[in-house]
Amino acid sequence: MFDPLLLNAHNPGPMTGAGNNTYLIAGARGSALMIDAGVGDAQHLADIESALNARRARLDRVLVTHGHRDHAQGVSALAAAYPDVTFSKQPWPGQDEQYAVSWSPLGEGDVVTAGGEPLTVLHTPGHSPDHLAFWHETSGTIFTGDLVALGSSVMIHSSGGGNLAQYLASLERLRALDARQLLPAHGPTVDDPRALLTAYLEHRRVRERQVIAALRAGHSDVPAIAESIYDGLDPALMPAARENVRAHLGKLESDGAAKHEKGRWILL
Ligand SMILES: [Zn+2]
Repeated sequence: MFDPLLLNAHNPGPMTGAGNNTYLIAGARGSALMIDAGVGDAQHLADIESALNARRARLDRVLVTHGHRDHAQGVSALAAAYPDVTFSKQPWPGQDEQYAVSWSPLGEGDVVTAGGEPLTVLHTPGHSPDHLAFWHETSGTIFTGDLVALGSSVMIHSSGGGNLAQYLASLERLRALDARQLLPAHGPTVDDPRALLTAYLEHRRVRERQVIAALRAGHSDVPAIAESIYDGLDPALMPAARENVRAHLGKLESDGAAKHEKGRWILL
């Protein structure tokens, strides 16, 4: 039976909510796999150890959805505790080297065995260039990393390898799978994937129309566009709002709908 166990990574904070979700999948033959590594918190490691003991399982492999620290930093602590573990992710040159393990590369179309069951690897860039999701077709489950988070919105850092157009294509791709549940890296399980993914896509379409309207109204730089859309927003949240505007402008530019010229954004 395919029964992923959620283990909280014990790293609560403004960017991680209650702490990252990691998932342990153990099979009948004693082999266990984890999705995401957390940050190496002692309580997380203790929870992993007792879950493995309860299942008489050994940890063989850790899949990392993407290279952001809250998902990947824990690999060194896991490597110290379980020296035979294989760590796998989609390569992200320039980022992966910060983690002191030797990564085994994973990519689109690979099939990994988890708890005796096949997991298909989907390359789903946009939140980050190396982002992977893992699809268990029989149960209709997708491990979605940072593609969705119930009750909040996902950050697309254009300056850090994020790409909104790719992100939207990844959401469309997940929606087309007609999954029964999404297991994200932050927040609760998503029991109605189609409704949530549709709402996410619609939300971004609305924002895009707002950015176009702001450009049309003569706002031509990121702060002015953000002010005009997010008027009255808590100032602490403004940097995130500006990052979001930047992501939309990048998409409009790649769509050929806007361009950046002499420090000003203009509609084409
Ligand atoms: Zn992330």
